[in-house]
Amino acid sequence: MRRVNDLLRDKYGHREPHARDPLDGLILIILSQATSDVNCDRAFTSLKNAFPTWDLALQAPVEKIADSIRSGGLANQKAARIQQLLREIHAERGDFDLSWMHAASAEECEVYLSKFHGVGPKTVACVLVFFLGKPAFPVDTHVFRICKRLGWIREKSSPDEAHRVLKTLVPDACKLDLHVNFIAHGRVVCRAEGNGGPRCGECLIRKYCAVGKSVKVSELTHKPVKEELGRDPDFFVTIKQKKQLETVDKIESE
Ligand code: SF4
Repeated sequence: MRRVNDLLRDKYGHREPHARDPLDGLILIILSQATSDVNCDRAFTSLKNAFPTWDLALQAPVEKIADSIRSGGLANQKAARIQQLLREIHAERGDFDLSWMHAASAEECEVYLSKFHGVGPKTVACVLVFFLGKPAFPVDTHVFRICKRLGWIREKSSPDEAHRVLKTLVPDACKLDLHVNFIAHGRVVCRAEGNGGPRCGECLIRKYCAVGKSVKVSELTHKPVKEELGRDPDFFVTIKQKKQLETVDKIESE
């Protein structure tokens, strides 16, 4: 796993973990579903502008929340989920301050976040690794497919099983880079069967891969690739950094 991580990191890059607001993270992850990065970013900014505090969002009619996030698609469903989450956190804590999680262990954070309705293992792992800077390994569709092909999880693993197994197997120091770089690799090289299939002959981690070692590269043919929803693999890593850089640019230009 460390060798695979080194090879992919050389090709796709390395990120340093950093901590931000975990509740912002939960809301961003809800907003990011089934939309582009740009629209998710717009919806989040619009939500924060419409409701400067989470108290205001909790008290508001759900239609008002939906109106503020229209640019992100599925606005009614996402608004209901956001308000439900805010309600549950407030009922449990009496406020929306989750900053205690920065000092807590990854396990404590995982147990806490998993209590909330609709917050599954992938969302929990995303909050941990992207917003709390803690070791966690979210298994999205690309990660799931590549880990099966590599032989790191069973062919018949469910996503829940994959989260459980890979959380223990993948070294903590590799988790953030491997997650992001598998997404990058899965989009262009280790593609889904429905999107052209794997390009094992061009794959730099082939010698570590169960499927890659079993195929005859000379017999591989590549089908055309469909257009994918263009999510930047680094979206959650950079979203706040981009905002900070834009602010710096603005201040400097003034
Ligand atoms: S060798 Fe083929 S199946 Fe294995 S990771 Fe590379 S592209 Fe995917």
